[in-house]
Amino acid sequence: MYAKKTPRDIDVSGKKVLVRCDFNVPQKDGAITDDRRIVSALPTIEYLLSKGAAVTLCSHLGRPKGEVNMKYTLAPVAERLSQLLGFKVELASDVIGESAEKVRAACPFGKAVLIENVRFDPREEKNDPEFARALAKGADLYVNDAFGAAHRAHASTEGVSHYLPSYCGFLMEKEITVLGGALSAPERPFTAILGGAKISDKLALVENLLSKCDNILIVGGMSYTFRKALGGSIGASICDDEKIPALKELISKAGGKIMLPLDDVAADKFENDAKTVTCKAGEIPDGFMGMDIGPETVKAFSEVIKKSRTVFWNGPCGVFEMSNFAKGTFAIAEALATSGAKTIIGGGDSASAVEKSGLADKIYHISTGGGASLEFLEGKSLPGVVCLEDK
Ligand code: AMP
Repeated sequence: MYAKKTPRDIDVSGKKVLVRCDFNVPQKDGAITDDRRIVSALPTIEYLLSKGAAVTLCSHLGRPKGEVNMKYTLAPVAERLSQLLGFKVELASDVIGESAEKVRAACPFGKAVLIENVRFDPREEKNDPEFARALAKGADLYVNDAFGAAHRAHASTEGVSHYLPSYCGFLMEKEITVLGGALSAPERPFTAILGGAKISDKLALVENLLSKCDNILIVGGMSYTFRKALGGSIGASICDDEKIPALKELISKAGGKIMLPLDDVAADKFENDAKTVTCKAGEIPDGFMGMDIGPETVKAFSEVIKKSRTVFWNGPCGVFEMSNFAKGTFAIAEALATSGAKTIIGGGDSASAVEKSGLADKIYHISTGGGASLEFLEGKSLPGVVCLEDK
């Protein structure tokens, strides 16, 4: 488990600090629709400001692919930060150019500025050393608080650590403590619920969690490949036939820890108003596709969740974007929220399901990093964390 130094372990007063945040927030028509990632970064920023540091914030937003594209400007983030911090957060119009140098140099101690989207420069994702050196220029220290980008070795998440003493932000610390704690010393029973469409993304995760968890509940589109591997009929459900041999082996190794849905809601087309049937698992009629877990599954899985002390959930139980196939996902969200267990949500669709149903404040931890949390739980090391100073 990682134990990294944070700004609390050093003297940051009178220091110029470069802070990498994950301000990759969802937007609609230029307006931020969910500012959780910005709000989650405030503890680190406010601590540094309260100690009299001059803070340069940086982040990526979306995928501008190394080109300046104002669709991905951090301007809305600067505006939201200004509201939250109570002073105007100046936004440089470039990343390492003249504007950034000027804005950074003029930042008073006790205040913060923001530079433009680091992915406006193609050298960011290539982890170019000269670009990283330019990002580090003028700073005394680097703090990485961007858990959501910690699985990437990019210039602003890893490269800068070669030029500055590097520390772990408080959000990053919380993420690695909660997820690391679940992996190394979970309160038991420890249950993982894994769903979503693609089995290929989650196979390594299931494998690693088998040695850590007491139960693994498989839901969503990926459950049909498991069901087919066991010889069930899955009709026209989503399925990754190539993975069937690997799944057969996994199931035989699992010692009964893997639980599959007991029933499914299936539809005759991939549409909200499709004709539906509720069928026993492995008995989906030809021409129908599994779209959600059924009521028996909700009941059985909710019981397992209720008896657990630690629960990790990633991936929806069905096509929850369509209201008629969202029941399973929302019922599982409800089961987590009322379980009394230490509940951890690995970002993405499950996080938005919990938020949409107004249950977010009943969840112990909602990770700000979907991909990063999955790689962490797969047992991979995160370059944006590894590069920070050990305690
Ligand atoms: P992933 O990106 O692999 O976590 O998958 C998330 C997506 O899985 C969501 O957009 C869901 O609509 C989709 N999904 C969940 N269950 C099913 C299913 N039974 N059939 C097709 N897609 C599904």
